[in-house]
Amino acid sequence: MANKDVIEKDKSYIAHTYNRFNVALKNGFGARAIDFNGKAYIDFGSGIGTNSLGFCNEQWLEAVISQAQQLQHTSNLFYTLPGANLAEMLCKITGYANVFFGNSGAEANEGAIKIARKYGIETKGKDCNKIITLKNSFHGRTVTTLSATGQDVFHQHFFPFTEGFQYVGANDIQELYNAVDNTVCAIMIEFVQGEGGVIALSKEYVKAIENICKEKNILLIADEVQTGIGRTGTFLCCEQYGVFPNIITLAKGLGGGLPIGAILADKTVKDVLQAGHHGSTFGGNPVVCAGAAAVLKQIANSDFLSEVKQKAEYIRRELLDIAEISEITGLGLMIGISLSEKFNASEIDADCIDNGLLILTAKSKLRMLPPLNISYYEINEGINILKTVLGSKK
Ligand SMILES: *Cc1c(COP(=O)(O)O)cnc(C)c1O
Repeated sequence: MANKDVIEKDKSYIAHTYNRFNVALKNGFGARAIDFNGKAYIDFGSGIGTNSLGFCNEQWLEAVISQAQQLQHTSNLFYTLPGANLAEMLCKITGYANVFFGNSGAEANEGAIKIARKYGIETKGKDCNKIITLKNSFHGRTVTTLSATGQDVFHQHFFPFTEGFQYVGANDIQELYNAVDNTVCAIMIEFVQGEGGVIALSKEYVKAIENICKEKNILLIADEVQTGIGRTGTFLCCEQYGVFPNIITLAKGLGGGLPIGAILADKTVKDVLQAGHHGSTFGGNPVVCAGAAAVLKQIANSDFLSEVKQKAEYIRRELLDIAEISEITGLGLMIGISLSEKFNASEIDADCIDNGLLILTAKSKLRMLPPLNISYYEINEGINILKTVLGSKK
């Protein structure tokens, strides 16, 4: 089979909801992937930040295979060990009180929204159910998380959308103050807006959010679906902002490439959802959780995380030396690249892929989310491809 055979079959039978690149990937190891034509690529995308330890990481693979040989799924009517182990690890690493497991980022955010509404209604009455989110945010593809997403392009086609969200401009403290009243149960943020263009919130703004939340007994929800699990150089991104949100949602990097979402709840909200209030058939799947535990064992230590920071600084320095690049944004290994005006990021992305580099875009930027354990050798190879592509466009 060649790339074109896979692409043809996909186009015949899979719904056309994605603008895919003209490549069908067959296998991979670390930060390298091979397509069906035998062509090799350096991976600066990690399956959109999911393959946090690259393709087929050895310990992850061992954990997944050995759990699949023992017990693959039971439903949530029974206790299983891998989910309990993973939840214990997450709580001990982060200081949160308990965890709910689902299967995706959107599902984690849906659960967080349910917790916030129930908490608001129980503590302050039935009108306290509004959630403030930020303009240019991204929180998922379900009808409610589309509503939470503060971008008009996502509020089309699927009416009626879920009510009860209000959007404020990121980093505008006055607008936030004006929006807060006694109907607000939560404020929900991404520390670094990922899909919105890899834009980090200012520390001052996040502190102001934390203060207003404490002052008015409003919950702070951090959507760390993309920023969590070491991506920005600390285990959770909130550590760098010096805040401890009531609820943190996780997904992308947690499963090492298998689907999982998680809601971390602090002591204020840990008991808001009781039996019958929420659930998920596949949530906490033993195979996925065993793999995620192997991811945490490697990522959640200070040596690994300081290497992530060093690699991020190295990449940022190297990129700033490239004349065609005008600005680097984001935190850690969540990297946004603005190109000088004559370039179109989507075209450059397609050219990079033709030249053997898998790289992403976000809005008008190039975006990099390399595996957290990528080697300096692979980093240099990838950056050289990007340089060649940009240089050839003069
Ligand atoms: C990707 C992403 C989501 C959605 O995650 P899914 O797993 O695709 O549902 C939500 N929030 C943020 C910040 C994301 O980056």
